[in-house]
Amino acid sequence: MLSQFRGLVLTEAAWGENDKLLTVLTAEAGKIPVLLKGGSSLKNKSGGACLPMCYSEFVTADRGGRPWVREASELESFPHLRSVLEDTALAVYMCDVANEVCVENGDEAEMLQLTLNTLYALDRGLKDKRLLRAAFELRTAAACGFSPDLVGCSECGSEASETMYLDVMDGVMHCAECHRKRNSEEIREGHTALLLPLSKPMLDVMRYVCYSEAKKYLSFELQEALHMQFSLYCEKYLLNHLGRGFSSLEFYKSLESLP
Ligand SMILES: [Zn+2]
Repeated sequence: MLSQFRGLVLTEAAWGENDKLLTVLTAEAGKIPVLLKGGSSLKNKSGGACLPMCYSEFVTADRGGRPWVREASELESFPHLRSVLEDTALAVYMCDVANEVCVENGDEAEMLQLTLNTLYALDRGLKDKRLLRAAFELRTAAACGFSPDLVGCSECGSEASETMYLDVMDGVMHCAECHRKRNSEEIREGHTALLLPLSKPMLDVMRYVCYSEAKKYLSFELQEALHMQFSLYCEKYLLNHLGRGFSSLEFYKSLESLP
């Protein structure tokens, strides 16, 4: 077990009367459950570096087979996103998603980098929040091995038709012609699939988010008229693959819809 590591605090929960159980995401060992003595007390000197959404350096000691925080120092605390409720709520959702898809004792370097880069962009206001959330959702799907295959039509290989159709659960696309053929067969056989029609600009941006370098995955532009659709598509894609929703997402959306 690691006794010194850098990690992002994803969640915290009360543990006994005064202590806290943290879930810390590390690159090399995935999620690590760590206990914080006196975590509920403001007097705890490591408390600030152990808050959710803090990226910190931890030194732990093994007590009774569990790692306890001996020291923690903050590397990045994302101060701005903590001061705006809507941003905090979005960051909590992103941490919940990372917590859902990451495992203990696994290599989670990609998800850690993705989550940190996205929290950084949110904290510094670098991207429209709707686009930021959508891109994070789609890139998470890609990082977890259920990336949609956006290269070309899965039937005939065509890379572009006026509209391509993304089959959400199979993660593949069909060109307009193959879609017409399949659609009539499926209707005859009584099958239905969750299909998202992708216009050329929508397909381009989804390809960019899935296939670009990790550090540049947010460097895309999308015409404003498509923001809502991009957001709906990416959310649908990720949540359908995870097979669950998130109360933190519902809370964030309730704030987003306020005037
Ligand atoms: Zn085709």
